[in-house]
Amino acid sequence: MSDDVVVRIEGLHKSFGHLEVVRGVDMEVRRGEVVVIFGRSGSGKSTVLRCVNFIEDPTAGSIEVSGMRLEGGYRTRRKREQVRQLRLHVGMVFQQFNLFPNMTVLDNVTCAPRCAGKGSNDEIKKRGLELLERVGLADKSAEHPIRLSGGQQQRVAIARALAMEPDVMLFDEPTSALDPELTGEVLSVMKTLSTDLHMTMMVVTHEMGFAREVADRMAFFHHGKILEEGVPSELIAAPQHRETSAFLDAVL
Ligand code: ADP
Ligand code: MG
Repeated sequence: MSDDVVVRIEGLHKSFGHLEVVRGVDMEVRRGEVVVIFGRSGSGKSTVLRCVNFIEDPTAGSIEVSGMRLEGGYRTRRKREQVRQLRLHVGMVFQQFNLFPNMTVLDNVTCAPRCAGKGSNDEIKKRGLELLERVGLADKSAEHPIRLSGGQQQRVAIARALAMEPDVMLFDEPTSALDPELTGEVLSVMKTLSTDLHMTMMVVTHEMGFAREVADRMAFFHHGKILEEGVPSELIAAPQHRETSAFLDAVL
């Protein structure tokens, strides 16, 4: 086992009632790696991502984040505390930006570190402004989210997730609710997280340009399993499975 592994998913299964939507997923993400997850709607991509930070409790299998390993399939008070600990290492960005509408942009970014007591108020504010600078929104710190475009809101959501200094960032179709002309600004911010911060990222997206340019690996999900994975340029150019090939034809 390498210490370099930030996320390790082992034997992951997840059922909702009788419907098994994740059917045995194993995956390792090493420090600084960007992994793109893609596949048809309903193939279990979001569920896997949600299991990584235990928004969904796995039916079976285990998740390890930054050396902390937790099994799915049971609930105890001790585990609830362990989940809380694990989540401190995981940032998540959703398709819908889920910003707090009644707070300013800066308060959205600083509210988690403030609640967690991560430094003095001045330090937290300074760091919040730095993060807004990083996502190109320093001048919007006093605005409310409703005054921003979708692309700007999603960039605030990214800054907010970064504020807790996570070891891994999870992105669940971060651009699919955006008008096409706004996806570029969000993808380019995500790219800088990789190039400048060497952030470890798991990204569900169908933006193949982003995958080709930024991802180290990509994994094609099919019926709750990884059907194939590989280096983006190779997988995109020469998929090994008919299903992957059909999907790529549809999105490229
Ligand atoms: P994807 O993100 O690849 O589109 P999901 O992981 O969201 O797929 O969903 C996989 C399957 O699990 C779908 O059939 C979906 O309807 C079902 N599902 C997801 N979440 C729930 C839930 N909370 N309760 C019941 N079914 C769910
Ligand atoms: Mg999804």
